[in-house]
Amino acid sequence: MKREYAKETVCIQAGWQPGKGEPRVLPIYQSTTFKYETSEQMGRLFDLEDSGYFYTRLQNPTNDCVASKICELEGGVAAMLTSSGQAANYYAVFNICEAGDHVVMSSCVYGGTFNLLAVTMKKMGIACTVVDPDADEETLAAAFRPNTKCVLAETLANPALVVLDIEKFARIAHANQVPLIVDNTFPTPILCNPIKWGADIVTHSTTKYMDGHAMCVGGAIVDSGNFDWSLYPDKFPGLTTPDESYHGIVYTEKFGKAAYITKATAQLMRDLGSIQSPQNAFLLNVGLETLHLRMPRHSENALAVAEYLKNHDKVAWVKYPGLKDDPYHELAAKYMPDGASGVVAFGLKGGRKAAEAMMDKLELAAIVTHVADARTCVLHPASHTHRQMTDEQLLEAGVAPDLIRFSVGIENAGDIIKDLEQAMSAV
Ligand SMILES: *Cc1c(COP(=O)(O)O)cnc(C)c1O
Repeated sequence: MKREYAKETVCIQAGWQPGKGEPRVLPIYQSTTFKYETSEQMGRLFDLEDSGYFYTRLQNPTNDCVASKICELEGGVAAMLTSSGQAANYYAVFNICEAGDHVVMSSCVYGGTFNLLAVTMKKMGIACTVVDPDADEETLAAAFRPNTKCVLAETLANPALVVLDIEKFARIAHANQVPLIVDNTFPTPILCNPIKWGADIVTHSTTKYMDGHAMCVGGAIVDSGNFDWSLYPDKFPGLTTPDESYHGIVYTEKFGKAAYITKATAQLMRDLGSIQSPQNAFLLNVGLETLHLRMPRHSENALAVAEYLKNHDKVAWVKYPGLKDDPYHELAAKYMPDGASGVVAFGLKGGRKAAEAMMDKLELAAIVTHVADARTCVLHPASHTHRQMTDEQLLEAGVAPDLIRFSVGIENAGDIIKDLEQAMSAV
């Protein structure tokens, strides 16, 4: 957009900028391909000599409009959509890592991210050291190796609800000459902008609050443009030395601050193909238009639910960084001053069995493998999303076996609490 606007305006107006006589609403470019006049024009696109669309596996105008809106919301310089949050985190790391490299990762990340790094990328020859996000800087520094290429963590961990000290992680990453990649799915750019605090790359599962209506799986990667790859040419040869698959272009020389996203698009999308469908991007854009209205409401409702649970005699513990006595309240007040998002974690005195019995009685809150939706939903990570992890890994990830992940929607808070009340009384 021409001027700098507040987030509310960006949510509504950024991205698609129609010219005279063009559709007011973002069109779905439902086309795999794009037409050119001469063979030479098309050839130049393949050489990255001209910018333009040629095949939707790499880029699509609908997707790019939505990516640019997310980019503006996060305060980045370039962004791309991916087919899922998993693809976003995979690309974000793999864009700067190859076999023989190493990643430092917070122990409190989403189970899917943990498996991606600890199981699948390990098979690709990329090692990973898991660190306690609350460790002091000296302990964290010991995790780094000469072949470390990035640090990966979550702003507000799913489902541990550990708030990342972003500034501490940025300091430690930068002291070791590598970028900090932050998964900002739970706060969304409405509640936190990790780039402002020193993160270099921000990822999202847009499947969650950004879509907000449980319609489309998707992801996004935003580059702050702040990490200067060219200062460490030996560490990041993929960005700073000729790419033979594009006639020897050097991404940092040719694309400057857009080098990282351009490489991820030109190489990873070309070869791995995890593009978001333009249909899904269109629906994601509709979700983004109301993100600034939904996030405060999610936060407000979650705080009410957390306070209710805290005072319930059948509840053993509650975690919600918006609660004044939560161990992460101070960090939440710093990084998410306008609300701590919509997810509450708690355990019942009856443990795992009581958790399952209570969940079965819920009427409004649905048991679904989903979180961060307009509709209240609930999940028992130890039995569901984190089922593959050992008890030791669960505890390390901040996921107690009795943890109930309660994703508070934007219904009436009193109705959500009444539903909990009736389910709890039945246990
Ligand atoms: C859900 C989630 C992911 C994975 O996203 P998908 O869209 O399900 O692939 C990654 N990170 C976080 C924090 C998530 O909550």
